[in-house]
Amino acid sequence: MQISERARRDAHDLFTRIRGDVVGPADTAWDQARQAWNLAVDQRPALVAFPENADDVVAIVEYARRNGLRVAPQGTGHNAGPLGSLENTVLLSTARMRGVVIDAVARRARVAAGTLWLEVTAPASEHGLAPLAGSSPDVGVVGYCLGGGVSWLARKHGLAANSVLAIEIVTADGRLRRVYADHDPDLFWALRGGGGSFGVVTAMEIALYPVPELYAGAMFWPWERSSEVLHAWREWTATVPDEVTSAARIMQMPPIPEIPEPLRGRAFVTIDAAILGNRAFGAEIVQRLRDLGPEIDTFDMVPPVALSRLHNDPEEPVPALSEHRLLSELPAEAIDALVAAAGPDSGSPLLLAELRHFGGALAVAKPGHGAQPTLEAAYMAFAAGIAATPEMVAGLHAALPVFKDAMAPWDAGRGYLNFEESTVDSRSFYDEVTHRHLARIKGQVDPADMFVSNHPIAPAE
Ligand SMILES: Cc1cc2nc3c(=O)[nH]c(=O)nc-3n(C[C@H](O)[C@H](O)[C@H](O)COP(=O)(O)OP(=O)(O)OC[C@H]3O[C@@H](n4cnc5c(N)ncnc54)[C@H](O)[C@@H]3O)c2cc1C
Repeated sequence: MQISERARRDAHDLFTRIRGDVVGPADTAWDQARQAWNLAVDQRPALVAFPENADDVVAIVEYARRNGLRVAPQGTGHNAGPLGSLENTVLLSTARMRGVVIDAVARRARVAAGTLWLEVTAPASEHGLAPLAGSSPDVGVVGYCLGGGVSWLARKHGLAANSVLAIEIVTADGRLRRVYADHDPDLFWALRGGGGSFGVVTAMEIALYPVPELYAGAMFWPWERSSEVLHAWREWTATVPDEVTSAARIMQMPPIPEIPEPLRGRAFVTIDAAILGNRAFGAEIVQRLRDLGPEIDTFDMVPPVALSRLHNDPEEPVPALSEHRLLSELPAEAIDALVAAAGPDSGSPLLLAELRHFGGALAVAKPGHGAQPTLEAAYMAFAAGIAATPEMVAGLHAALPVFKDAMAPWDAGRGYLNFEESTVDSRSFYDEVTHRHLARIKGQVDPADMFVSNHPIAPAE
């Protein structure tokens, strides 16, 4: 749908007033501007705006309100899949709002809205500090924290959302607000786990944890050993302290030049882990896994920035489809079910079928936590594949439900917002009281439902 002639003229006026940029369908930069990180998503907004600062964001929100348009804030588009139609919507990309200030003494970092995780983990690491970053170096800090945020230190320090200290946000009335525990506590609560329904976050302050070094790495075995290794990992996770956060997965590496030679075109079962502690402590913890004789073993003492590439997540945009399920428990039969769905004899086209160990601090609610105080699951199952051709898409549409169904008997009863890449009812992430409270706060700050989020909270009357 086209925007009105008046909105088009007003957009030109907006373009001349802001430091950033506004791109419309007639511009040569249009296809690049509307492209999400996930290349499988075809975003068709009315306009794309690239603010460079908070004043630009205010001007864009006011422009949208004047012209009856909605606003979809986006950092990278890692989770663009669930957004749905962007008709009548300004896609507000924060990609040009970058910058990090580390306060090493106070152990906090202030990040601009479009900052990527590696832009924080690298300078923090030089001070022997670590944020609660996830496995991908180029996921956006803000989108990740608004949705919860499960990091390599999650079992020790909980969800990243609950280590957010302050948030600056432009709400639907065009006001730039700074919210923190003592100032606008309801909105501050909602933003920490409630997602992007409440406005455009322009900056965030997050806690950093002292981690001069830690013991971390990955082990690889040929995928014919998937069952044996995953069973051993399952038993091992039951014994490890909260200092250990790990993931185990079956991977079929594509035969592409981006994959290093020893791995290219091969299939493996792998275990990655981050262990807070010294070499002796870490080595003792992983000895049971080492006894399984991995073909590759990269565990060593590393600075915390190394966690950004521990999982080898893609650092360039890719076309991907995925599914996840939070699991209340992981009995031996669940491993058998996963291997049957995605292992050596399954014929599965999945790039990866993964289990992440939850629990520890992720399961402990504390006073002052936000809308997602915990993730009540012992493990998470996740699967993904590359969706580069119609045949690959068809293969994934067949294989992903097989994987998800295989894990169904151990479903924890809730989803996890950050790993949900389909359009679902946001009630599936929260208990009833929490969802009602989120809807009430949405009704206060955005009664006309201007902001389009990947997992929207509708405003209460
Ligand atoms: C390869 C990969 C690895 C991942 N690893 C992890 C992991 O280890 N742990 C984990 O918890 N998650 C992980 N995720 C999931 C990731 O946290 C979510 O996809 C998250 O939503 C990405 O945030 P983004 O800003 O990069 O993406 P976007 O798609 O840009 O943002 C997602 C949503 O966040 C909101 N949002 C973003 N910026 C703003 C803003 N400035 N103001 C208001 N709302 C905003 C919007 O509602 C937007 O739709 C991973 C995803 C991928 C693809």
